[in-house]
Amino acid sequence: MDFLRPVTWEQALAYKAERPEATPIQGGTDVMVEINLDKGRPAALLDLNPVAELTRWSTEGTEIRVGAGVTYTRLIAELGPLLPGLAQASRTVGSPQIRNRGTVAGNLGAASPAGDAHPPLLASGAIVEAESVRGTRMIPITEFYTGVKRNALRPDELIRAVRIPAAAGPQYFSKIGTRNAMVIAVCSFAVALHPGERRVGTGIGSAAPTPRRAPEAEEFVAAALDWEGRSPLDPGAARRFGELVAGAAAPIDDVRGRADYRLHSLAVMARRTLGWAWNDYTGRGPA
Ligand SMILES: Cc1cc2nc3c(=O)[nH]c(=O)nc-3n(C[C@H](O)[C@H](O)[C@H](O)COP(=O)(O)OP(=O)(O)OC[C@H]3O[C@@H](n4cnc5c(N)ncnc54)[C@H](O)[C@@H]3O)c2cc1C
Repeated sequence: MDFLRPVTWEQALAYKAERPEATPIQGGTDVMVEINLDKGRPAALLDLNPVAELTRWSTEGTEIRVGAGVTYTRLIAELGPLLPGLAQASRTVGSPQIRNRGTVAGNLGAASPAGDAHPPLLASGAIVEAESVRGTRMIPITEFYTGVKRNALRPDELIRAVRIPAAAGPQYFSKIGTRNAMVIAVCSFAVALHPGERRVGTGIGSAAPTPRRAPEAEEFVAAALDWEGRSPLDPGAARRFGELVAGAAAPIDDVRGRADYRLHSLAVMARRTLGWAWNDYTGRGPA
């Protein structure tokens, strides 16, 4: 196996153009597990760790541009107030050791339907900044997931950064697992309120071949909420929101959970997270 070690982004792109079959490695918390379990041996590893610029994040207007090398630990410590939904999801990833190495870009590269970063990225309307020697592509997150563990990256492309709108309102993430830590989601859900646009964003994890939004639920609840008067959340509307979120999912039975359990828990998580977010928005505090 060849080990390619670029020190600049331009070198990294040149290597990927020359060796499109090379597997990029950032934190290695997915890549090394695959290699150790003998699930295919890559012809080459393209180690992005020496590329210092990838470890930076910046604010660009109302957007936060998170470099592909920013770990979950740093995202939690440095970006919690700006990206609360993603930070909350990041806190549930693996263990401190995994969060010290793992990245959102790696979660996107792996594109597992159960990846924890995906629901908050969908709820916020993130954009994946993909690049190759041919140029830059801004891929809307809704177009990024193309199948189970498949994404829209072309063979010569790398993720340079993820661009995420800074939270304009409350955001929450919820995950069901068989225990509280070190667990792959049985299913998960994220909600983001966008009060300026009178809009609600959603993201469903581990309950369909790809992470996905629940557009009908978003439209229904955006119209049902009293954005101006900030009156309490109508329990009937919250319940209906939960039903519509579950209706948008297409789960399977597998070792982690049954499809009907996933549908039930999604409806509960959707109702609860909406309640938490709405209480924050209306200033009523925790539900
Ligand atoms: C013990 C353990 C617990 C875990 N728990 C969780 C959990 O709770 N929730 C969760 O979501 N995940 C979990 N994971 C999976 C993993 O930690 C995450 O998916 C993490 O986000 C991967 O990030 P990484 O930087 O380590 O990626 P890597 O392993 O380096 O890469 C992952 C994939 O992304 C590709 N890639 C990496 N960087 C780039 C780039 N810049 N451009 C293009 N492709 C790229 C790689 O080629 C590979 O296909 C766990 C893993 C382990 C080992």
